[in-house]
Amino acid sequence: MKKINIAIDGPGGAGKSSISKAIAKELGFIHVDTGAMYRAIGLYAIRNNCTEPEQLARQIEKIDIELKFIGGVQRVLLCGDDVSDYIRSPEVSMAASKVSAVPEVRKHLLDLQKKIAAENNIIMDGRDIGTVVLPHADLKIFLTASAEERASRRYLELREKPDCPSYEEILADMKQRDYQDTHRAIAPLCQAEDAVLVDSSDMGFHEVVEHITNLIKEKLD
Ligand code: C5P
Repeated sequence: MKKINIAIDGPGGAGKSSISKAIAKELGFIHVDTGAMYRAIGLYAIRNNCTEPEQLARQIEKIDIELKFIGGVQRVLLCGDDVSDYIRSPEVSMAASKVSAVPEVRKHLLDLQKKIAAENNIIMDGRDIGTVVLPHADLKIFLTASAEERASRRYLELREKPDCPSYEEILADMKQRDYQDTHRAIAPLCQAEDAVLVDSSDMGFHEVVEHITNLIKEKLD
């Protein structure tokens, strides 16, 4: 039977992952966070001192990325090791954005993402899901918010942690990542023509979850 595929794209810090996770739980779908896959490769690049794209491209076949869903929660495995708890730092965010511009990296992950989508009812979030990975998704959402709002949310999330960057540093990183993600040659971040735009700048978390869940239910009815 054909599986239901929902695509959610948007810039970093727009809340795609936490919102997709909540919606997936409510609808009994699997949430696939593709950013985590790029982050795992970013972590590999840091750990193996792969600073040049050519270096990474040469090693790509041995970078094994796997997703495991434990109780509906995604864990990401890098060469067999669960690295889910090591991929959320600002350093890995920046490394992920850099490695994601390497064509061989994108190709490596594309097949895996398509395979998961063909086999499961999923909500997949990322940057190129509606445009490249799932061009025939049942529903496409482009979830965004102003850079200032996204930076302020990220700051609130991180501020209890040791070495928390300042709001200004987070905002600068966010803008740099936005620039890199929208200007790369392959699969840049952009809204698919048939995607529904949701600007969450003035919306609360639950409001966004409810709004998108309703859009999905309307579409599937
Ligand atoms: O979504 P998240 O912030 O975790 O993604 C980390 C980085 O991975 C992004 O800045 C982007 O460069 C890259 N990415 C991508 N394509 C996707 C998902 C993430 O290029 N589908």
